[in-house]
Amino acid sequence: MKPIRLKQTYELLQSYEVFKNKNVIISDPIPASKEDLLTFHSGEYINAVEKLNDGNVTKDAISFNLGPGDNPIYKNIFDASLLSTGGSLVAAKMLESGKVDRAFNISGGLHHAMPGYAYGFCVFNDPVIAINHFLTKGLKVAYVDIDCHHGDGVQLAFYDTDAVLTISMHESGQYLFPGTGWVEELGTGKGRGYSVNLPLHPYTSAEIILWSFNQTVLPLIDKFNPDILVTQLGIDSHFNDPITHLNQTAQGFESIVKEFAKSSYPWLAVGGGGYDTIAVARCWSIAFSVMAKQNISNKIPDQYSDMYSVDNLYDLQTPFLDADYEAMVKSYAENSVLGIQKLIFPSFGIR
Ligand SMILES: [Zn+2]
Repeated sequence: MKPIRLKQTYELLQSYEVFKNKNVIISDPIPASKEDLLTFHSGEYINAVEKLNDGNVTKDAISFNLGPGDNPIYKNIFDASLLSTGGSLVAAKMLESGKVDRAFNISGGLHHAMPGYAYGFCVFNDPVIAINHFLTKGLKVAYVDIDCHHGDGVQLAFYDTDAVLTISMHESGQYLFPGTGWVEELGTGKGRGYSVNLPLHPYTSAEIILWSFNQTVLPLIDKFNPDILVTQLGIDSHFNDPITHLNQTAQGFESIVKEFAKSSYPWLAVGGGGYDTIAVARCWSIAFSVMAKQNISNKIPDQYSDMYSVDNLYDLQTPFLDADYEAMVKSYAENSVLGIQKLIFPSFGIR
C-alpha cells in the first residue's frame, strides 16, 4: 500500500500524455470531514485515529487494530486517510452533479475498513462513504469489487439494504485474508439477494476470471439497473502479486474494465490492493485510459521505461498451469457461478 505505487501510476499516465486529453480533468482531493466519516465509522474510532496523527503510539491504539501488523501507525495517518477518503467523495460529488460521467480515485478502494477498527491495510472505508453520499441523494448503487480479497467492509455496510447491490469477485477465503466472501453470504432482510460473492481458487486464469465475471456480474448489473456504478479495481489479483495467488493478467483486467466501460451508468472507480507496484501502475493506467476513451500503446515511453526498467504495458508472458490443475480451478469457478445462479438469479428474475 506504499504511496509510491500511486506516484508510479500518475507518472505512467503522464508519460503517455493521457492528461492532455481534452476530456480529462485532474482534481485535488479535499479532506473528508468527520461528518462524512460518521456515516460509517464510530466517533470513538475516528477520534482514536486523529490522536495518532503525530505518529506516536497511544495506549488504546491496539484496541482499534492499529499498531504492529497490517495497520501500522505513521506520521499524518489521519490527514492522509482523510485525503484518500476525500478523493472518492470529490469524485462522487462530481459524478452526482453531472460534471463528469466517469471518475477514478486511484488512492481509494480501502474496502476492508470496519466501523470501529482498521482492517487489512485500510483505515477509513472510502467506497462506503462515497456510496453513502449517493444514497443521501436517493440514488441506487451497484458496487463491483474485483480486488483479490473479499470486499468485506463494503458488504457489511449494505448487508441489509436493497438500495446497494454489492458484488465481490475474489480469491477464496479458504486460502486468503479475510476468510469470508462465500456465495452463501446473500444479505439479510430487505438486503437478501443484494450481496453477491464469487470466490475463485488460487491460480485461476484470466480467461476463467473473465468467464465467471461475464456469467454473473454482467447480468446482475443489467437487471439491477443502478443509477451509479461503483467499481473497486484492486489489482492484487495479478499473477505477479507477491501476497495473493490468482493468475490475472493486464489483458484480463482490461477486458473487465472494458465491460464496465460499455455501460452507460455514471461510473466511480476507486483503486484498492496491488503489491507489485509496477503491475499496479500498468493496470490502473490501462483502466484510466479506457475510462478516458484513449488508446495507449503497449510500448512504454522511454523516460518512464528507463526510470523503472519496464518496457511493456501488457503482460508478454502468462503463467503456465498444467491441464489437471486448470480443470480443477475451472470446476471451482463453475461451482461458484452455479451457486450464484441458483441462490441469487431467481430474485432478479434471471433464468
Ligand atoms: Zn486486496
